Amino acid sequence: MTETSIMGVLETRAAHCDQHGDYESLLLNVGGKRWTGCPQCSQAAIDRAEAEREQNQVVDLRSQRGQAMFEQSGIPARLREATLKNYVSAGDSQQRAHKQVCEYARHLPERLGDGNGLILMGNMGTGKTHLAVGLIRHCTRNLAVAAKYTTAPALFSRIRASYNSHTETEAKILAELIAAPLLVLDEIGVGKGSDNELNVTYSLLGQRYDERRPTIVITNLMSEEFKAWLGERVVDRMRETNPVVLFDWESHRGRS
Ligand SMILES: [Zn+2]
Repeated sequence: MTETSIMGVLETRAAHCDQHGDYESLLLNVGGKRWTGCPQCSQAAIDRAEAEREQNQVVDLRSQRGQAMFEQSGIPARLREATLKNYVSAGDSQQRAHKQVCEYARHLPERLGDGNGLILMGNMGTGKTHLAVGLIRHCTRNLAVAAKYTTAPALFSRIRASYNSHTETEAKILAELIAAPLLVLDEIGVGKGSDNELNVTYSLLGQRYDERRPTIVITNLMSEEFKAWLGERVVDRMRETNPVVLFDWESHRGRS
């Protein structure tokens, strides 16, 4: 047996590639006889496949990172499946609110730069949190940018607990929320609002404003009550960068 026949080469002949010029084509018998094509073309095809695989790996890594960011965002488990798309809007004002939040999502890359957010204001059970979670999902999973969710009461109680903790401090808790590229601060205005709670809220919102990081503020209070709770001056200033989206219809959950 000759060396070539061992390797499955039965014959050779001169061949020509329009792109790469002359080459030697081999007649192989590997599961059927077949003449080999231009080796440079095959190399180019291999390189292309390689590049595509690397590109896919980048996309995979990005989507894994986005998924992890979503998992770590702190959204309520009951709203894990909430998206901007699967928000059911019936009625004009509900459709308007839905559209406003989707419009914000469409421009999120710019908002992550200029720090402008939204105030989702209105009745309980109208899906404000659903839409905010949809924004977080879009931010993390589609844009691979980190986002955090917390309710104000949960934040206050975490801070209170930190006074007896060796590992957590108020500064550390706030720093984490200030650093988040996108923050959803839900349930502002629940409870009386002690001086300390108001100071924490001012500090968080003020520092995020200074750092130009957008905050989605959610409240069940209407405008006047919200001003009474947070302070008129603070609310007026906030509204310059965070337009109000009004959820002023009745609750689906039968609570108001
Ligand atoms: Zn070729």
